[in-house]
Parts: sequence; structure tokens; C-alpha cells
Amino acid sequence: EDGLVLGIHPSVSELFPPSKLREELGDAPVVVEGMDGDADTDGLDGVVTFTYSEAFLDADLQWIHCVLAGVDAFPLDDLERAGIRLTNSSGVHGDAVGDTVLGYLLQFARRLHVYRDNEPERTWRYPDWHETFTLSGETVCVVGLGTLGQGVTSRAQGVGMDVAGVRRTPTPIPSVDDLYTPDALTEAVADARFVVLTVPLSERTRDLVGADELAAMRDDAYLVNVARGGVVDQDALVDALEAGEIAGAALDVFEEEPLPDDSPLWELENVIVTPHAAGATRDYAGRVAALIRENLTRIRDGDSLANQVV
Ligand code: NAD
Repeated sequence: EDGLVLGIHPSVSELFPPSKLREELGDAPVVVEGMDGDADTDGLDGVVTFTYSEAFLDADLQWIHCVLAGVDAFPLDDLERAGIRLTNSSGVHGDAVGDTVLGYLLQFARRLHVYRDNEPERTWRYPDWHETFTLSGETVCVVGLGTLGQGVTSRAQGVGMDVAGVRRTPTPIPSVDDLYTPDALTEAVADARFVVLTVPLSERTRDLVGADELAAMRDDAYLVNVARGGVVDQDALVDALEAGEIAGAALDVFEEEPLPDDSPLWELENVIVTPHAAGATRDYAGRVAALIRENLTRIRDGDSLANQVV
């Protein structure tokens, strides 16, 4: 049997060289072709892509694999109507994002970002006694306990933090000490030194953290968003940061990306801005290829797909 013909969309190169994916898929039951553009879909059964294009709807595709975990940019209803299955890359980012989040927490606790900021001026300044702390014994509240969330909770537990989590079904998770349901979000964040957002962006999670939730947080608390910009009301966040209602934020995702030059977030000393790179790792292509291989086998065997969204 000759297998499927899979196109690699040019946008994949935003995450890793498409040649890497081709190489990793080399001996899978598939013919892999590089696409020249959105509409270069002739003869393709499936597409691997970072971005969505309307041209996919008109093509004769049966499957789209998105190399991101979050597929909020894809029109799920349209794809369903067109009979195109959509799979995402959830499951691959737990280690990379978990490490990044632990890094943010350590920076805030140990003030590493401040020393780095002081280097251009050759400023040797020892911190005030109350500015530094250790993570052990501090509480982190992780909102959304999927791949990313558990990548964070297991690391937080490893450094001796108290771990709270927000989850729709209150099934216990070994690395989480206290579970809350989404209706108790303000209660869940109230005691935490760090609040970490790891939920998908959906109608239910849009602006999940707004003025009320920020007000419920401690004034020495830090917000970490590695989910999607739309999960936080960004204007309310800027207000809370400027008013000192919370101590700071580490943000990897924004309402508009790249973050515009005139955003006040660039200027705030207590904000760490990273360029939607929390999940970046040299292992990315290999991990995505493993997912695609799995689904190629499932398609061949007529089984349901892994990570299927539509
Ligand atoms: P996942 O599907 O493994 O986990 C998401 C979890 O959130 C699930 O357990 C789900 O039940 C839960 N959830 C959904 N709505 C909720 C709500 N209202 N309250 C509480 N929990 C809720 O996905 P993942 O791989 O962990 O990724 C999560 C999201 O993070 C993605 O959708 C994507 O938007 C984002 N992401 C960002 C990066 C980055 O580089 N910054 C990388 C990967 C993923």
C-alpha cells in the first residue's frame, strides 16, 4: 500500500526546519511533500501546519495536524462541516514549558532578572533583605492540569512548593495537594504566591483572569501566563501591575503577538516578557513526528485519531 500524501506547510518553519520533520517521518507509511504556499494542496491527503489558512477548507484534505497544542486559531465548526479531521500537538510541551515556568518562578524568587537588568550599567546592588525568598514552602496555583499544567505541578512539587490546581473534574493528581473547580477560581488564587495559567483558550476561558481575579490575588503574588493571551484581560493586568495590586508577571503569550512596541508591558521592571517560546526545544520536531506517525498508523487501521479536536 502506498500510504497518504502529507504536505508540510511553510509555516512549520516558524518552529523547526521542515526538513527535520521529513527526516523523522522518513520510514513512516507516508509520502511527505513540502508545500509552496497555502493553496499548494493538489494531491495532498493531509497537511502539517503551524497556521490556519482558508485554502485548507477548499482542498481535498481529510486531515490537518497542527504543530501547536492550542488550536484556537482554527475554525472548528467549518472544519467539521468540511469533513476535515484536526489533530493538535498536545502532549509534547510538558517538559519544555514546565522548565520555563520553573525558571520564571526561580527568577522572581531569586531576583535573577534584576541582576541581569543591572549588568548594562555595571550596577552592583545587593538585594534588600525582604526582596528574596525561596520557592520551598510557597504556594503555586496552576489553572488547567493537562500536559503543561502537570509539567509545572511535578516540578513545583520537586522544589518543595505547596501545589494547588484548578481542574474541571476534581479527580486527584499525585503532584497536586489541593484541587479546586473553575467556579472556585478566586478562592484558588487567593493564597497563592504564584498563579500559573495552562488552559486552552476557549469561549469559557477567554478573559478568565480579569480585574476580579487579579484583585483576589495577594499583593506579593506573581501571574504566569504560558497559555494564550486571550485567557487574561491584558488591560486589567497592566492596571493591576501599575497599581501594585500584584507583584509581577511572566508572560509568554499576549493578546497581540508579537507584543507591540508601545505595550506598557515592555517597560515594567517586574514583568518578564518572552516571545511565545515557553515550549521551544530542539526535541520539538521529533516529538511532533512521533504524534504524526501514531496517527498515520491509526488512519491506516481505521482507528480513531490521537489528539483529535475535530
Ligand atoms: P492539554 O489539553 O493537555 O491540557 C489542557 C487542560 O486544561 C485539560 O486538562 C483541560 O481539561 C483543562 N481545561 C480546559 N478548560 C478549563 C477550565 N475552564 N478550567 C480548568 N481547566 C480547564 O493541553 P496542553 O498541551 O497542556 O496545552 C494547554 C494550552 O497551553 C494549549 O491549548 C495552548 O493554548 C497553550 N500552550 C502554550 C505553549 C507555549 O509555548 N506558550 C505551548 C503549548 C501549549
